[in-house]
Amino acid sequence: MITREQITELAQFEDQASCALSFYFQPATPRNKAHKEEAILTKDLAREALRQLESKGKSDSARADLDRIVRLSHEFRGNGVHAKAVFACSAQNFWREYDLPAQLSGTQLLVNRHFHLKPLAQLLGAFPRLGIVLVDRHRARLFDLRLGELAEREGFFHPLSRRGRGDGFAGYDGGHAQRRIEDEALHHYKFVADFIKDALEKGMFEKWILGCQETHWPQIEAQLHSYASQKLLGRFNAEVAHVSTEEVRTQAERIFAESQERRCNEILRETISQARSNGRGVTGLRRVLHSIESGEVQTLLIGQNYHSQAVECAGCGHLDAHLVSLCPVCGRETRQVVDVSEAILPWVIRRNIELFYVKDDPDFDRVGNIAALLRFRSEQNNNVRSVTQAPPNPSVSRQEGLVGRYRGLAGG
Ligand SMILES: [Zn+2]
Repeated sequence: MITREQITELAQFEDQASCALSFYFQPATPRNKAHKEEAILTKDLAREALRQLESKGKSDSARADLDRIVRLSHEFRGNGVHAKAVFACSAQNFWREYDLPAQLSGTQLLVNRHFHLKPLAQLLGAFPRLGIVLVDRHRARLFDLRLGELAEREGFFHPLSRRGRGDGFAGYDGGHAQRRIEDEALHHYKFVADFIKDALEKGMFEKWILGCQETHWPQIEAQLHSYASQKLLGRFNAEVAHVSTEEVRTQAERIFAESQERRCNEILRETISQARSNGRGVTGLRRVLHSIESGEVQTLLIGQNYHSQAVECAGCGHLDAHLVSLCPVCGRETRQVVDVSEAILPWVIRRNIELFYVKDDPDFDRVGNIAALLRFRSEQNNNVRSVTQAPPNPSVSRQEGLVGRYRGLAGG
């Protein structure tokens, strides 16, 4: 699994000779038996990359990396379960390999000044750190789902170890026993609710999903802390003792996908409306870039197929929608970036900005296919602030650790 620190490292990497190599490997499904073709595809991609580098006279340092990637692709192809990402630059002695969920849009190989992070960004957003809690009257199980990996965490909940658990009311009779059982269930729900609140506050997971029987929900709900209720994405009907891991995964992924779509849609509407009223929303590349550099952005929305040029300062990293040759912040020379939606990602990652890629949406199209919802709005002036003056994202300090918490890049 890839951590937030590792992504930050990738986002900050730069090779002046433009030999930073990004390789994404999406395994073919066993169904189409394309293993051999995958290796051929990688070879073709490597050959094409080399040809491009040769035409620029820069092939020497990348050649070794490309050879190594072609060799590796023969090993990757057999695994079938994971996708892979490799980031390499032999000139700087840099080589990183990561396993990813096998949900990339395809196998890709790119060589550039920076690493190509959009596929990673899309995946990470699709997989924040999710807790899935299954509860009944005297049991609870906890799973977490990160980057497509579902794992049951043992030992978080001790089932109340009193006699008769699971044997119904054996050994008791009358209302007294009934009340006692009710009390115990209540205590149990309270214990679970405290645990969930604690886990969210400690960042064990960002959002959570509940599996329980419909009849138990009102009692469980009554015990939940409001903070935990806000972070609950949805619930599904589950028998704690019998539900299969696959069922938990399917339900969790469904609930998560629905909640992300809702959230993306809500944020989109709110951003557009806030931008109209000159409130906490901005639209259009120029304003969005300015807001990102000012540290105001909470959530960034980019059209799935958005492309626009911009310039980037070689000195301070400032991005500018105007194709100016000198940086308005530090005065050094700028260089063109072919795709600003890619160049923006290091900023998004460093500042822990939530990112959604928006699929075709007419309203979004009308405002230019790029927009941001702001945490606050700094003074409206036209001075471009330098990068170092921009306030840090206050949420970042709390968010060390694993990538799931590196907030919803992409589809969510
Ligand atoms: Zn500059």
